[in-house]
Amino acid sequence: MANETEDAPTNSASESHATSADVERNPTDEDKNEKLLNDAVQFLPTDAVKDLLSKEVCLRCIFRLFGMQVPICSSLSVKSLLCHVLGEQADLHQNISSVEPNICRSCLGILQFTYCGDKERVVENESACDFAVAIAELVKKEGHQIDSFSLEVSMPPTILENENKLSLYVKRKYRSEAWFKDRSISECSSTKDALKFALTNPLETLLDVKCGISTFHIRLTYSRVEASIRIQNFVEKIEGCKRRKVDAKNCLDTVKDKSAITGVENSVVSTTEVIPVDEKSSNGLQDNEPSETHEFPLKKVNEPCRLECLCFRTPIYFGGRYLKYSRNVSQTRWIIDEERMGEASIEEIIGGNILPMCRGDSYKFHAAGREDIDVRMLGSGRPFLFEIQNAREVPSELLVKEIESKINSLENKLVRVKNLKIVGSQGWTLMREGEAEKQKQYAALVWISRPLQDEDFQTISSLKETVRCYQILQKTPIRVLHRRSPLEREKIINWMKIEKIAGSSQYFLLHMCTQAGTYIKEFVHGDLGRTNPSIGSILGCRAEILQLDVTDVKMNCFLTE
Ligand SMILES: [Zn+2]
Repeated sequence: MANETEDAPTNSASESHATSADVERNPTDEDKNEKLLNDAVQFLPTDAVKDLLSKEVCLRCIFRLFGMQVPICSSLSVKSLLCHVLGEQADLHQNISSVEPNICRSCLGILQFTYCGDKERVVENESACDFAVAIAELVKKEGHQIDSFSLEVSMPPTILENENKLSLYVKRKYRSEAWFKDRSISECSSTKDALKFALTNPLETLLDVKCGISTFHIRLTYSRVEASIRIQNFVEKIEGCKRRKVDAKNCLDTVKDKSAITGVENSVVSTTEVIPVDEKSSNGLQDNEPSETHEFPLKKVNEPCRLECLCFRTPIYFGGRYLKYSRNVSQTRWIIDEERMGEASIEEIIGGNILPMCRGDSYKFHAAGREDIDVRMLGSGRPFLFEIQNAREVPSELLVKEIESKINSLENKLVRVKNLKIVGSQGWTLMREGEAEKQKQYAALVWISRPLQDEDFQTISSLKETVRCYQILQKTPIRVLHRRSPLEREKIINWMKIEKIAGSSQYFLLHMCTQAGTYIKEFVHGDLGRTNPSIGSILGCRAEILQLDVTDVKMNCFLTE
């Protein structure tokens, strides 16, 4: 502990030019880890280690097979690890490739941190720390601001098969040895766990956050290159043979029967580079053949796995309520035959302000129901949920309030947002809850074909008093028949009230509260008898609706700040 202050390492992880040196731990930890490594190495059965190395199993696969998970292994190169394991053999230092396989036959290079990257370029990393640096660079390049991360690894099924074959081989060969009897099966870790273990600490240091359950994901997806490329090459070569008017079968036969290669045929072989027969046994084309596939040593590997490294954030949600003051704004972007309907949309106005603040890829807009383009949304507003895909940044509460004020101070004043906040995915539950029972309040400007009479007020408002609520039957309105199935629905009108407009005898405001999903326009004019009863049928005259406002959506969702 004494040297803790004088040797405190400088951590520049938050800067963009990170190196694996940043991952080095403080000296106390390092000493402890070094001791752990030396202790663990002592118990490794040297003969078995050498045997496995000779069968082209990499050192880190051997470590995982013997349950060795020492944090310091992440920062050490294979060379240093080999020195620890087989230190007494000085000549190893000179020629590592004679000891450590080029590409491990068990993990296919995964635990050697070697992979096929973009454009089939093979990337080699000395240590897990070097690999972690490359991953951390990607996270920074993508511009993610994170407070934690989760690490996900997916591997081709071959890896698991290889692990099993390897364990089986060790078991068969060494089960009588004392060291084998002492160890338990549970000591052995999988390739996937070993990789995660090796990467977690260096990544935590480089990114300066903890690994765990997080909305930010680092996903490493390994897949096999060999088979697909080989087959593709093979097909191309056969195509090449065909182009030279040489039958593909003859072409292969020519190669197989080496003694038959004459000067002329030889030129065919050299220009088309058909795979030689002795390479064919290990070229991945034999994958479906059962022979040898269950035996050890494992098949020789020519290429490492292809790696796709993705970092992304799972969607974040903004909840709130919106108000719409215009009769020319649609709820979502509405384009018919390349022509925009209305002057704007709620979705674009709100999304266009939220998305850049989160630096996300895209957004999805969900609302609790919808109103027509010419219907205003007033009162407490309509609940909505904005889903932001792959946000690089999760805005603070303060910033969310700023987004809200920005939307609300837009010059055109088409839309207003209330109670905007970041909600978890439980926002969905809130939106769905009560959606079936939710009620809506409306104010409609109505015209009737005769002057309004005193008893009309009574007729309309007494509905509530006499039957508490009023049931109507609505067939799917003619105007939406092209996109909705023809059904008959029962809807409830909870109450209605007429408000007289001064100086006008045939126009009035109709206030009402109805069950969600009631078609109000049709309830007023009757839709050629498809809605029954209607205001027209109740008052015994023609009724037309001129304007409509939603004055309230009775849902508790996002009602408070
Ligand atoms: Zn390996």
